[in-house]
Amino acid sequence: MADCIFCKIIAGEIPSTKIYEDEDVLAILDISQATKGHTLVMPKKHFENLLAMSGDEAALLFSKIPDIANRIVNNLGAEGMNVIANCGPIAGQSVMHTHIHLLPRTPNDGGPDFIHTPTHDFDLDEVAKEIIG
Ligand code: 5GP
Ligand code: ZN
Repeated sequence: MADCIFCKIIAGEIPSTKIYEDEDVLAILDISQATKGHTLVMPKKHFENLLAMSGDEAALLFSKIPDIANRIVNNLGAEGMNVIANCGPIAGQSVMHTHIHLLPRTPNDGGPDFIHTPTHDFDLDEVAKEIIG
């Protein structure tokens, strides 16, 4: 897609540091490393984000992720990983081409802290009813 920075990277028009590539996906190091080895895995086909993809398209993308993720974790000696997809500007998406962030984690790596603290006291049954319809 014209004017998409990740499409340009996929087409080789903008340089990137590739760590994996096949006919369906490309994995590159994020230019801004939140942790050492911070990687972006993207489908070669342009979609705005995960919410715009079919189950089959998303399955193809995610089918590649465990191998890529394990290679990063094992070869960098990480102890775990955050796997994140920001969907929409409200959720922090800044590049409108689907990508999955892989953040290898090691102790005291200075990476983001995703705290599991509830911020709202919603009635779960009511919320479930709204979602299910
Ligand atoms: P988002 O904010 O959409 O979830 O993530 C977009 C990511 O793309 C950011 O973490 C940003 O650092 C990265 N990024 C933006 N432009 C480039 C680029 O030209 N090359 C690479 N390798 N990463 C980029
Ligand atoms: Zn694109």
